[in-house]
Amino acid sequence: MLNQSDIIPKGYKKCSDCGRILPETTEYFVSNYNKNRNRYYYKCHCRECGKVRSKAWRENNTDKYKNYYSEHNKTAQAKESNKRYKEAHREVIKERKKEYRQKNPDKIKAYDKQRRENPETVEHINAMTRRWRANNKEGVSAYNSQYAKGNKDYFRAAAQKRRNAKKRTESTLTAPEWERAKKHFNYCCAYCGKKTVHLEQEHLIPLSKGGAYAAYNILPACKSCNSKKHDKEFSEWYKTQPFYSEERENIIKDYINNLVATAL
Ligand SMILES: [Zn+2]
Ligand SMILES: [Zn+2]
Repeated sequence: MLNQSDIIPKGYKKCSDCGRILPETTEYFVSNYNKNRNRYYYKCHCRECGKVRSKAWRENNTDKYKNYYSEHNKTAQAKESNKRYKEAHREVIKERKKEYRQKNPDKIKAYDKQRRENPETVEHINAMTRRWRANNKEGVSAYNSQYAKGNKDYFRAAAQKRRNAKKRTESTLTAPEWERAKKHFNYCCAYCGKKTVHLEQEHLIPLSKGGAYAAYNILPACKSCNSKKHDKEFSEWYKTQPFYSEERENIIKDYINNLVATAL
């Protein structure tokens, strides 16, 4: 007995997978060439079912699929066609990537980390960024001003840093003066008295509070004291330190007062 679905009108074809009866044209079926029979024939499943089959195959043969494409993508023909595809589907690709990133945050994190750790990739990205910036000057400055508005504190601190750097370049401290300062304190930290070869230039009045980068404002200090004092006032900070010594405080004061007197 014939079912309704077995009656296929001329020019139509039944899909072997989904059973739909569709026009036997390349719009619905993929046409393949059969060498032995020297003729074209339509595949037994429709295009939509073909996609489902391919997807299932790719999922079951991930390695084979990857290998095939990594080899195939090296050919000039593939490169050309991939380029054409990318140009024609820019928005679709963007959306697809965005969706993938949202769905796989862990994978993306690992991938990004691996890229950041590869110097070649980093250089490649930097070069790309430089090129992009050079070609999008207006966009970059609009983005920067927008960004600055949202990060006021950060940019205020950066501006302060720049001003300090500028002051440093206006430094009047000479190498012999720095040598003289270290010698005066016996190559020890002026604050705690520790002997160290790594003496840092400590500003009695911090640069951030208007102190000068000049001999009469600079003391040799160990790394620890320099970072502990940071931008505190000498008179308040020093007295609270466990290594405070009135004798050393007087030596510091005399040293500074002498320099100030000769500088003015
Ligand atoms: Zn089908
Ligand atoms: Zn010290």
